[in-house]
Amino acid sequence: MSDRGDSLPVVAILGRPNVGKSSLFNRLVGRRLAIVDDTPGVTRDRKEAETQLGGRDILLVDTAGLEEAAPESLFGRMRASSEAALEQADVAIFVVDARSGITASDRAFANWLRRARRPVILVANKAEGRGGAANAMEAYELGLGDPIAVSAEHNEGIAGLMDAIVEHLPEVDAPSETEEEEDEKLLRLAILGRPNAGKSTLLNTLLGEERMITGPEPGLTRDAVAAKWQDEQGPIRIVDTAGMRKRARINAKLEGLSVASSINALREAEVVILVLDALLGLEEQDIRIARLAEREGRAMVIALNKWDAIEDRAAARSRVADTLETSLNQLRGLEVVTISAATGAGVDKLLPAVRRTHERWNRRVGTGALNRWFGNMLERHQLPLVEGRRLKLRYITMPKARPPTLTIFGTRAEQLPQEYQRYLLNGFREEFDMPGVPIRLQLRGTE
Ligand code: GDP
Ligand code: GDP
Repeated sequence: MSDRGDSLPVVAILGRPNVGKSSLFNRLVGRRLAIVDDTPGVTRDRKEAETQLGGRDILLVDTAGLEEAAPESLFGRMRASSEAALEQADVAIFVVDARSGITASDRAFANWLRRARRPVILVANKAEGRGGAANAMEAYELGLGDPIAVSAEHNEGIAGLMDAIVEHLPEVDAPSETEEEEDEKLLRLAILGRPNAGKSTLLNTLLGEERMITGPEPGLTRDAVAAKWQDEQGPIRIVDTAGMRKRARINAKLEGLSVASSINALREAEVVILVLDALLGLEEQDIRIARLAEREGRAMVIALNKWDAIEDRAAARSRVADTLETSLNQLRGLEVVTISAATGAGVDKLLPAVRRTHERWNRRVGTGALNRWFGNMLERHQLPLVEGRRLKLRYITMPKARPPTLTIFGTRAEQLPQEYQRYLLNGFREEFDMPGVPIRLQLRGTE
């Protein structure tokens, strides 16, 4: 239904001022991951974020603050400002305040919404604690169906609301998330990088067809579809090509946004291909994306693109290697594949590197082998004194992979200094061949 050249379903949050729209927006997006776009002129006075609900990508739009712009009555202002938002919305979330009760503006607004021929989800916010649900009942009178009682501030009822939103989203033709989830061998891949690095060109080359339109203008990436294909080793899905499109819509503030919208792809992906423009090297923005990937526990491969345009290849290569060494030590040993997405040169080496990295990221190490190695590490370097007492580490386990996660148990283990942690992590990477993979270390103190 949205009129953007963008197939993300749009969910708009509407309601009179102060009912908690912004709070709800933040809650639905997840504060930590909120991608708030306030690019002037493009989304003036409006906050938007791509987020994922129940495996579906959506664009969530917050209309809070819009009503300040126009004169007229409160309802008039709300209506004018909400009209545009509603126009683009596939689903409207109409928020009322359960504590203050239903007001005349709420009623007028509800009447208008009922005629708008859009699915409307009625939300009674501020319904926390005892009595909250009872207050929320009052919203029945609006004739918009069962109100969903939530508390944006106290994080109550949010999961139920998310389910309701997902239920109302338009159907998709693409293979459903559950089918893919069942597909155990499926590798979920994200192609990230700053605008103009060559992501769409690479995707085209990988897919072997002109699936996306690329051009010299930064971010010119249209007509993307969720791409899934098969190589000899199994199915691969590129996640969040939508994020690539989102960037195309907004030309201002591209730099920041491309980092921000990477977050969505990251959450969905197992492995990230970070595409670099070899002419520019590894810059701050790339490092930020790489750090995000690491923080989200994703494996990563670097594609050093536009290799055809590089004259001094040795210099270009070592410049990237140096920056990796100094700025991305957490992903030590990361595979760097030089490619020319445009000519296809080197692209055949990329997927094998992705597969290797994926395999490492998935790999589990048995407790026996792990503790033999651990014992050697402890012997080689005495544990430091902490507050005058020597730490005692007893054993190590690997409770999970994806990303590899290690748990160390011992007396005051949680006080293990950073330096020693790094020594162990680097040793682990080397011994069990896990370069380029983020590794989690948990420390459990025992009595
Ligand atoms: P907006 O104007 O509709 O965007 O509303 P805001 O999100 O700015 O919230 C307005 C006020 O309501 C703020 O003071 C929030 O802290 C408060 N608020 C938001 N959600 C809740 C809630 O679930 N419970 C309570 N008690 N207060 C809330
Ligand atoms: P995106 O914004 O990351 O999706 O980048 P595009 O794929 O749209 O590419 C941006 C520009 O870089 C376009 O003009 C491409 O033709 C160019 N480009 C992409 N890959 C290569 C390459 O391997 N070599 C050279 N010389 N140019 C490339």
